[in-house]
Amino acid sequence: MTTITGGCLCGDVRYAYEGEVGPAGYCHCSDCRHVSGSAFGISVRVAASDFRIVAGAPSRFTKRGDSGREVSRFFCGACGSPLYTLPPRHPEVVFIKAGSLDDPSVVKPDREAWTRSRVDWAEIDPAVAATETGRG
Ligand SMILES: [Zn+2]
Ligand SMILES: [Zn+2]
Repeated sequence: MTTITGGCLCGDVRYAYEGEVGPAGYCHCSDCRHVSGSAFGISVRVAASDFRIVAGAPSRFTKRGDSGREVSRFFCGACGSPLYTLPPRHPEVVFIKAGSLDDPSVVKPDREAWTRSRVDWAEIDPAVAATETGRG
């Protein structure tokens, strides 16, 4: 049993989960790229029955994905942070957006999906200039 908590950037929406934390996966689909504003989405699977919103009310956007199936995406209507997705065909699971967790160390990615649409910059070239803080 693990208790995990998380929420959006502005703090309006908060969630909590108590139970077994499932595996995390990268998703390179075009929708995850757009909704994250970054190279890919990364989410952690948990049981819907033990996941609850403890503050605020997330906004919802539903769209048919590259898979042809509808996915409902939940986010904070005030600050825009992506929080979690619900696949309508699998109401028993919630995919928490990994970056919204208070403790990101519970994220253990073990799979990648939609590598067909992965962008070259999804992988950070070790030769890229790196700074410990800021933009350098
Ligand atoms: Zn917010
Ligand atoms: Zn995706």
